[in-house]
Amino acid sequence: LEPYFQFMLRVVTPGGVATPEQWLVMDSLADKYGTGSLKLTTRQAFQLHGVLKWNLKHTIQEIHQAMLTTLAACGDVSRNVMCNPNPYQSELHSEVFYWSQQLTSHLAPKTPAYHEIWLDGEKVVDSTEQEGVEVEPIYGPVYLPRKFKIGIAVPPSNDVDVYSQDLGFIAIVGEDGKLAGFNVSVGGGMGMTHGDTATYPQLAKVIGFVTPDQVLDLAEKVVTIQRDYGNRSVRKYARFKYTIDRHGMPWFIDELQDRLGWELAPAREFHFEHTGDRYGWIKGKDGKWNLNLYVQAGRVVDTEDNKLRTALREIAKIHTGDFRLTANQNLVIANVTAQKKTKIVALLKEYGIAEGTQYSALRRSALSCVALPTCGLAMAEAERYLPSLIDRLEPVLAEAGLRDKEINIRMTGCPNGCARPALGEISFIGKSPGKYNMYMGAGFSGDRLSKMYKENIGEDEIMDTLTPIIHRYAAERNNGEHFGDFVIRAGYVKAVTDGTNFHE
Ligand code: SF4
Repeated sequence: LEPYFQFMLRVVTPGGVATPEQWLVMDSLADKYGTGSLKLTTRQAFQLHGVLKWNLKHTIQEIHQAMLTTLAACGDVSRNVMCNPNPYQSELHSEVFYWSQQLTSHLAPKTPAYHEIWLDGEKVVDSTEQEGVEVEPIYGPVYLPRKFKIGIAVPPSNDVDVYSQDLGFIAIVGEDGKLAGFNVSVGGGMGMTHGDTATYPQLAKVIGFVTPDQVLDLAEKVVTIQRDYGNRSVRKYARFKYTIDRHGMPWFIDELQDRLGWELAPAREFHFEHTGDRYGWIKGKDGKWNLNLYVQAGRVVDTEDNKLRTALREIAKIHTGDFRLTANQNLVIANVTAQKKTKIVALLKEYGIAEGTQYSALRRSALSCVALPTCGLAMAEAERYLPSLIDRLEPVLAEAGLRDKEINIRMTGCPNGCARPALGEISFIGKSPGKYNMYMGAGFSGDRLSKMYKENIGEDEIMDTLTPIIHRYAAERNNGEHFGDFVIRAGYVKAVTDGTNFHE
């Protein structure tokens, strides 16, 4: 007899784009093999929870038949490449989206082992070498020392939190309105370990500009540097950010340009305004409609209050555009014709789904990871708890006249940082059940890390701490000043200028 081992399956969707047919497959798998819900992750992937061990193979095969994959959604390789869903500038989006697909497939592991094990493929090799032909030309026989994350942002939106990525691309538009290339940023990462100040979140730094045809070469060489120089002795120091910080950025740029055989051009001007999603219906330049729908904590599930999962299933049955998972765990129903818009609006109404614009700005700006009970690393609740904390904070914000003021709030169940908490203007990282370290002061557009303000506090202390700060912010903020900037100016926390001084 074997216990009912259950697993989480993460499904890659480069740039977060899925067809209605793929949505319907994921939806049916949630019932057939999962727990009846879908999780949209902060990396624009799907997660299926509760898949029993003896169903893993069937589930992966059905995912594969839908032209999706779990390959490289986890593991010490390049993960799902994130991309701004940007449905409102469709021409630019399709160019940028193309590069997220290219990066995903170029950096995908080439081993046939996945097919052999999960898809009943024929066994073709015994190791990573076959007759002298290297099966993993980029990763080699031992892959990377740690996971590797890539994201593409399209200014003015920094929804992918590009500075949190190991490797980031910032799309630069040319004078003709088309994609000219990308500024490149390297060395970001959110994870750390409680009590170990040698670990810290770090923001990536912009090192130059590349044209689109240079993107794959650059990404490959960056990955190989981490493969060769990343720490393979101590796993918690293995992320790329530590490799760069240990050797220094000048060393890294020299090494990169040596491997490339060409030099990066100087970085070009760009400007980020925010990291959040813009909700509601917006008409794209091509005349099609796009609905950015709020999905609380990215959880697609039917509840007593609304039938989100059913509504999206019914929409997928008639939708002729696509679905785009956002980096903020929301969903864009994209490329909707005027005729289908009327039907989709009716379906949303029928199943009690609000678009998101009627929620408080704090709720709309919230991110949380899965945490308990699903994630084995969780020390505290996140997804199941943050909404109720926001329930308590909303009256405080309303009283202060800040109901519609965007403040980024994030919560994770551990310092691994899946919901990028070090980039929350207010954030909480779990320490033990009901207790969190509280951080403040991140930049609204994702360009500054937060700083710890209180350690190991519970809900009442969170409320006692935040209530006077919120009122003071309402009364004393400068015109247009964001919460994260205010708490620094008001002296609550020091500005973090680099991840290496995050704990000072
Ligand atoms: Fe990620 Fe930690 Fe949250 Fe688990 S508890 S999902 S590892 S941040």
